[in-house]
Amino acid sequence: MAKTQAPDTSSITRLDQTKISQYFGCNTFSERTMRERLQKDVYKAYRQAHKRGEALSPDVAKSVALAMKEWALEQGCTHFTHWFLPMTGATAEKHDAFITWDDEPGQVIERFSGGQLIQGEPDASSFPSGGLRATFEARGYTAWDPASPAFLMEGPLGKTLCIPTAFIGYHGEALDHKVPLLRSMDVVSKSAQTALKFFGVNTNSVVAQCGPEQEYFAVDLELAQQRPDLLFANRTLQGAKPPKGQELEDHYFGSIKERVLGYMQDVELECFKLGIPAKTRHNEVAPNQFEIAPIYEAANLASDHNQLLMEILKSVGERHSLAILLHEKPFAGVNGSGKHVNWSIATDEGQNLLEPGQTPEETLQFLYFLSATLKAIHTHGGLMRACIASAGNDHRLGANAAPPAIMSAFLGGQLNHILDAIEKGDLADTSTQKILDLGIGNLPRIEKDATDRNRTSPFAFTGNKFEFRAVGSSQPIALPLTVINAAVAEALDGLNAKLEAELKAGKDLKVAVMIVVKQAIIETKAIRFEGNGYSEEWKIEAERRGLPHAKDTVAALHIWEEPAVKAVFCKPGILSEGELESRLHIRHEQYQKAIAIETQVLRQMAETQILPSVVADLGSRAESLSKLASAGVGVPESLKTALQTQATLAGEAQNRLSAMKAALIAAEAVEDLHARTEVFGTSVNESKHALREVLDLLEEACDADLWPLPKYWELLSPLV
Ligand code: ADP
Ligand code: MG
Repeated sequence: MAKTQAPDTSSITRLDQTKISQYFGCNTFSERTMRERLQKDVYKAYRQAHKRGEALSPDVAKSVALAMKEWALEQGCTHFTHWFLPMTGATAEKHDAFITWDDEPGQVIERFSGGQLIQGEPDASSFPSGGLRATFEARGYTAWDPASPAFLMEGPLGKTLCIPTAFIGYHGEALDHKVPLLRSMDVVSKSAQTALKFFGVNTNSVVAQCGPEQEYFAVDLELAQQRPDLLFANRTLQGAKPPKGQELEDHYFGSIKERVLGYMQDVELECFKLGIPAKTRHNEVAPNQFEIAPIYEAANLASDHNQLLMEILKSVGERHSLAILLHEKPFAGVNGSGKHVNWSIATDEGQNLLEPGQTPEETLQFLYFLSATLKAIHTHGGLMRACIASAGNDHRLGANAAPPAIMSAFLGGQLNHILDAIEKGDLADTSTQKILDLGIGNLPRIEKDATDRNRTSPFAFTGNKFEFRAVGSSQPIALPLTVINAAVAEALDGLNAKLEAELKAGKDLKVAVMIVVKQAIIETKAIRFEGNGYSEEWKIEAERRGLPHAKDTVAALHIWEEPAVKAVFCKPGILSEGELESRLHIRHEQYQKAIAIETQVLRQMAETQILPSVVADLGSRAESLSKLASAGVGVPESLKTALQTQATLAGEAQNRLSAMKAALIAAEAVEDLHARTEVFGTSVNESKHALREVLDLLEEACDADLWPLPKYWELLSPLV
């Protein structure tokens, strides 16, 4: 198959002669723009509402809407939309023009009211609600999240003003991923503020922060469009291993080829205009796999920005004739893609509570927050695993060079050593050179760890943040962030109560903190693991330690129903019981849907593309052999045998195809939601796998000219 030419990108607007800082956020109604355009008192009222997370008063909303409309019209906007994150995981928008009838008949004027700014009313009936909303209550509301700036989406013939909103039902039920995230940020802020008070730190708020590293594959668009599996299921469902895989590992951090660099620069340009702080770009381990990482921000902004980034990656890809694959495992046998969710919490003054600190007091405080995070993972490792379970991530977790489906935390040699010393009550231990006795109950100062990163840990401490590495590349980060915030808040509450009791019993603060920290260290020991998380030994060791190990989504979905999960979400009001149940329902549905689509697509490929080609190949070879025979040329037995083998294999493929079709029909007939998921995850998945096995063998023997699909080596060959 011929490779396509790199596209002509000269028509794309280039701002690379200009400093990034000069146009960063130019397509957003940013704080700076608001300060410039709003009257002082309006701006102040807006800031206050934003800071306290309160709704805008109608008067303030009216003034902000007017300023926003004027700004948007000046930028060439014709339409506006509330932009939100329904539970499908994609973003949703419904555009309205800024027009309304003027007094003069037949004339329109541009109008945008305060009401339209702060509240929209999209028909919610087509978005999944997991049973939260009866069909007669189809209404849903979208409400502006003033913490996330409005932005402009550029179209071929004009721009659209997008207003990031939360999506709620008639009775205030959260119908999206954003509302629970905002609630969890509030909850962890309060618990952390209570903790900080013990240490004499008063702060208005504590902010959960996140920097998500996004991995993706880029494939030539023309080739991708010839693969129904890539178009409809976002991953290849068939494909023999290429002669050269990633064995040589020459791609990682290698020089970025010009075509890809042009694409990345274009993506970054779009990001910068939208105020997305794209910072790092590099080649990833697998061929044609890349990464983009932003500077970290408040978790809700990071979540909005990551959703936008995923859209930008795909749409800019098309401009460059590239198909961008965000799936966790687009190619079997090749490394998958993740999204490393880096998480920390900081005061509104910017003090990172996971930063080891300089003084003994800061070290004490650091150990407290670190212990709370360990406690969170120890109590909710199962939920952390469950919140990233999906049909796509099932192919990645536990596969080659990907985090296992067992949650553990890596702390690094020094920190681990210190925690061990605290546990033993042996703080004078100075066997590590860098540990210095600073006098508070022999509390050591914690130096930045010089040892190497552990890339095999699903949840690694990396100096001043935790890196949740098991999140899948296509997943919205809102839910994993919500889970971490909720779990850490719950752990902090527990520690706070214990500390309070120790203080009441008359203990000195430092002594009391060390008692609480020591207890947490002992309780959470099982989840600390410094070794190779990819190894078989770890699986055995983890089982011995009693850590939860949900192998796949089917197993992980059960975790959602555990009482501890209900408690961590419902007690602080992050999700009501109904909202929690609806999320579980949607996860079941999405899992089943993903597998059903894959099965349908594979059926179509096998039945209408692959098998006809294989039979045609067999026919033409048989014809050639009989021509040889009639010309009096003796046909060697080995040629006949090869043909027979291929024919037998084709027959086997036909049988397995029928079996797969039957498995799908049987699965769809299962009434009970949970039981249906189980059948999809076992017999349907197995039947797909069985068919693929034979199709891959057929590919290896089929006349390449007759094979109807671009092969792995073509899809993964360098983009030039
Ligand atoms: P790496 O983990 O690859 O060494 P970095 O340390 O630069 O790279 O960070 C990777 C990601 O972590 C980036 O998106 C970065 O913004 C984010 N990050 C850095 N510090 C924090 C923090 N304190 N809280 C949350 N995310 C952070
Ligand atoms: Mg990293």
